[in-house]
Amino acid sequence: METYAKSITDELLQTAIASTNQPKLTCPKCKSQQLIIRDKIVKCPDEACNWVQFRTVCGVQISIENVTSLINKSKTSLIKGMTSKAGKKFDAYIILKENAESSFEFEKNKSSKRNGK
Ligand SMILES: [Zn+2]
Repeated sequence: METYAKSITDELLQTAIASTNQPKLTCPKCKSQQLIIRDKIVKCPDEACNWVQFRTVCGVQISIENVTSLINKSKTSLIKGMTSKAGKKFDAYIILKENAESSFEFEKNKSSKRNGK
């Protein structure tokens, strides 16, 4: 029984270590530096490049997974519940433009099919 408990603990410890392992992401702007990932921002260590992405976008924290997709695929998964400046909730993808600036991409309007009356 003791051995069993110990192996569970070891597993938990390993999981904890794995989850703090941050992905190695290359700066999308200068494409040479490895990005520094912090709780609040993701930034390029090169001051001349100065690329930065805030982890909190319209009130929602962007997960490490989404930061990874943003850098590697230029697009996050759908991020829900963001709040616009006007106070309206919205869902959107964050995308990286060719100049490495981030932008929003909105879901295709599902109500575009109209019932012709
Ligand atoms: Zn850079």
